[in-house]
Amino acid sequence: MAAYIPDDKITAVRNASDIVDIISEVVSLRRSGRNFLGLCPFHAEKTPSFTVSQEKQIFYCFGCGAGGNVFSFLMKHGGLTFPEAVRTLGGRYGIDLPTRKMSPAQKKKLTERETILTLNVEAMSFYRNCLISDEKGKPAMTYLLKRGMTRKTIDDFNLGYSPKGWDNLAHAFRLKKRSTQMIFRSGLIVSRKSGDGHYDRFRDRIMFPIMNGQSQVIGFGGRVMDDALPKYLNSPETPVYNKSRSLFGVDKARAKCREKKSVYVVEGYFDLIVMHQFGIENTVATLGTSLTGEHVRSLKSIVGEGGTAILVYDSDQAGIKAAQRSVAVFQKGLLDARILVLPKDHDPDSFLREKGSDQFFQASEQSLGMISFMMESAIEKYGLSVDGKVHIVNGLKSALLAINDPVARSLRIKQLSERIGVDESILLQKVRHATIHSKKGNLQRSYRSSESHTEPEKTRGGTYRFEKQVVTMMLQFPEMIGPIKEQRFVEYFSDPVLSEIGKGIIDHFSNTEGDISGFVSCWDDTEKKSMIARLSLADVQWDRQGCIKLINQFAASLRRRDKTLIQRIETAEKNGDVTLLAKLLREKQHQIH
Ligand SMILES: [Zn+2]
Repeated sequence: MAAYIPDDKITAVRNASDIVDIISEVVSLRRSGRNFLGLCPFHAEKTPSFTVSQEKQIFYCFGCGAGGNVFSFLMKHGGLTFPEAVRTLGGRYGIDLPTRKMSPAQKKKLTERETILTLNVEAMSFYRNCLISDEKGKPAMTYLLKRGMTRKTIDDFNLGYSPKGWDNLAHAFRLKKRSTQMIFRSGLIVSRKSGDGHYDRFRDRIMFPIMNGQSQVIGFGGRVMDDALPKYLNSPETPVYNKSRSLFGVDKARAKCREKKSVYVVEGYFDLIVMHQFGIENTVATLGTSLTGEHVRSLKSIVGEGGTAILVYDSDQAGIKAAQRSVAVFQKGLLDARILVLPKDHDPDSFLREKGSDQFFQASEQSLGMISFMMESAIEKYGLSVDGKVHIVNGLKSALLAINDPVARSLRIKQLSERIGVDESILLQKVRHATIHSKKGNLQRSYRSSESHTEPEKTRGGTYRFEKQVVTMMLQFPEMIGPIKEQRFVEYFSDPVLSEIGKGIIDHFSNTEGDISGFVSCWDDTEKKSMIARLSLADVQWDRQGCIKLINQFAASLRRRDKTLIQRIETAEKNGDVTLLAKLLREKQHQIH
């Protein structure tokens, strides 16, 4: 069982470790100036861009953006959790870590997780018994066998049945004297509307236990056997279950995915089970949500570097929608994704039964990459008339814009240009136009969501670059933190992430001297960890003089901004625009030192 590790022990382990030693074990590093360079273990590259700094005890890959300190490296490379990474290093450097020393709050959180996991296992056996040995489960068993499930599959996936009635499971738990509050937290029972008592969430449904990668039962999906609605019901979010992270079948698919370097992603429980039954074990299913960045990260970690995800859909429309929704997520996750649309009126279940796995593989061979798929679908829908081409380009520009890598983007644009016979330069112009608009809102929201800080820098303005330079300066020239703090530059930052990191630097380095690796540890968000590593290792050519010049430039730009604001206030006053005036005055007040 994991135990809480106090902060001072974590710091001791970090101080004892040498990041160059640890990374050298898996990456061959050579010295290059002040740093070490090697081929990145997280993406395929021919020329090394993976940089390790012994002095700062951090790493950053200028190719794929992975970065952080020694803990981040072990977590990412070895798939360890944070405590596991600390323990591994602690063991290696002979630092004793407590086996059990938790605050009451931490203990509570941990036991809550464990209690829910235990309740889930108990519920799984309850549902299983109902299916296999209970008279009540007979129709469910007949239904499963009729759908072509073998007895082995039913056992392998621990399928079960939740009986009719309101409190079969609740009653079984009551007999075992389980805490009602914890059963409620597990999502297995629901409060009555009257406020008094609880009833079973899953009733008269086929039950699919959802496992995580460690084969722990984290939740359930329940499917009706007739046309009742909702057809599928899943566990709610609980301390152990998060649907935007979980993938059904991941525990059974992992080994095969690694071997094949590919993973099929299907939509339904039955689709997944049938794929497995036909021997296509490198398959997982989403649980009624569109694919998130977290899903993509898990998919990538199970197929490994250079692997592929093949999204299987049962209609063009579903495929197009999914491609539109997830193209940016996959681009950002740097995972190659293809779309496999099955012939009309087929889902994986019916397709495999009727045509077998060979034909499935043939169809899969012909699946297209996301952008090509969107291109072909648009051409089919709109045709290649002048109007059609306008529609096609308009429909595709945001997807093209979502491609982070400029080389990949320009190749796609070229491909589209050749395919529809529109001049490349016109397409480029269109995409640039979309870039400008996306800054104003909607496109950015649909394609970049909360991850806007990883937007290609080309599309961001001078203010962003300037703010980034200030943060870089604070990280690389700690003696500049004082003057920057004094002038309160960071408070004027318009980029939320840089502003947060900037404030963090000022707080952290007021107490600790120049410990970048420790500063990296202060953040939970891996994106921010990488950003800090990146800016700390960025190759800058400034000296002290250059820093002072930059500070003066920033101060001047703030003064200009202030001056513009005053002018706008005067104009608003003159025009009697009260709303605007109030807004500007608020802005001004915000700026006063
Ligand atoms: Zn890399």
